[in-house]
Amino acid sequence: MVPLFWRKIKYRYDVVGSYCEKCGSYYYPKRELCPKCRRKGKLRDERFPDEGRVLSYTIVNGKIIAMIGLNNGARTLAEVCAEKVEIGTRVKKVFRRYGEDGDEGIIYYGTKFVPVC
Ligand SMILES: [Zn+2]
Repeated sequence: MVPLFWRKIKYRYDVVGSYCEKCGSYYYPKRELCPKCRRKGKLRDERFPDEGRVLSYTIVNGKIIAMIGLNNGARTLAEVCAEKVEIGTRVKKVFRRYGEDGDEGIIYYGTKFVPVC
């Protein structure tokens, strides 16, 4: 049996964001409302590319947190698992284990990026 947990986080696995048909903006993670158009916007689910480039980055507690420009022009902030990155480094999305729930043994995954060689 698939735990409810997995179904709830479906969107994290499918790499689905939102696309506003009115202004043509992409958003990831998925949003309920277009920040530009507000109520006039028309958002639909859009599967996102899993590759992009590092636009900028900062190091927080030894982790590289980067602003990544995805191949469709959307931007997302995510951890990059690497020793170092540079502006322009090509990265791709991976799922890394965050931790385990002791009671249920459910493993939490999140979106992270690794450099593409
Ligand atoms: Zn919009």
